[in-house]
Amino acid sequence: MLPKMHHSDERRTSPVPQTVDEAALRLGACKRLLVLTGAGMSADAGVPTFRGEGGLWRGHDAAKLAAPEGFAADPELVWDWYRERRMQVAACEPHPGQRTLALLQKHFPWPGRVLMATTNEDDLLERAGVAGVLHLHGSLFDTRCADACGWQARDSADNGLSLLPCPICGGAPRPASVWYGEALPRGPLEDLASFNPDGCLLIGSSCLVQPAAAIPPEMAVAGLPVVEVNSEETPFSSIATVHLRGMAKDVLPPLVDLLTSKTVQDQRRKLT
Ligand code: NAD
Repeated sequence: MLPKMHHSDERRTSPVPQTVDEAALRLGACKRLLVLTGAGMSADAGVPTFRGEGGLWRGHDAAKLAAPEGFAADPELVWDWYRERRMQVAACEPHPGQRTLALLQKHFPWPGRVLMATTNEDDLLERAGVAGVLHLHGSLFDTRCADACGWQARDSADNGLSLLPCPICGGAPRPASVWYGEALPRGPLEDLASFNPDGCLLIGSSCLVQPAAAIPPEMAVAGLPVVEVNSEETPFSSIATVHLRGMAKDVLPPLVDLLTSKTVQDQRRKLT
């Protein structure tokens, strides 16, 4: 059975913030680098996170709307929220941190490969030019049948599919996002497992939403380098190999610059 999404409230003590060059040297030695992004990555582009500022929508807890119970109680409210989010994301532009990940993917020193995975439902990484993004929690723009007949489609810009019954079985339409308590789609999890990363760059994730939150600690405990970029401390910060405290849009450009530099490439050659 696939793992289900849930919260974990574990918190740890404050780590010592570390430097971009240390992070680049650790990640520069990797051959299969996983870049995992959470809501904080898109916050710099203007997409609110569910926790903290912007976590409330018309007086409702956003996280409670992203749940089967919320949809069962008031489907119209959930759809209003989704339509507003779809329009909000469509109006946002990728920031320099997101664009720089497209460069990392292209110029990461050979024979290294970079796989992008995200718990975000927005399409900002794709619009920044990042290829092959694994959406572990689904896409904000997909609509599917709530009766589980299997129908799912990309919605149009006017959200037309959200207003009509399922074209296959006549059931109610619902957002195709993976909600709290629901299983993650099998395909992206299998792709991630077969990539078998030997290092991880974790950006803007609170490390509270399972099962994706378990990936960085499992890798760190296995002795693999995991670099965390976050504007705040998280439950994972104290066991991260390197913790870079700052905004994704500010921290990522210098990190990627260094990671793709001749200095790091030379260092890598010495190690291999
Ligand atoms: P989350 O659990 O991933 O937490 C956000 C993290 O980002 C926090 O640790 C915060 O300190 C950090 N952060 C905030 N701004 C940052 C910045 N500018 N730079 C670096 N780090 C920053 O996200 P959540 O909001 O609690 O959402 C949980 C789930 O809800 C997600 O996994 C996703 O499925 C969904 N969600 C998606 C989006 C999206 O698609 N953009 C937005 C909100 C929530």
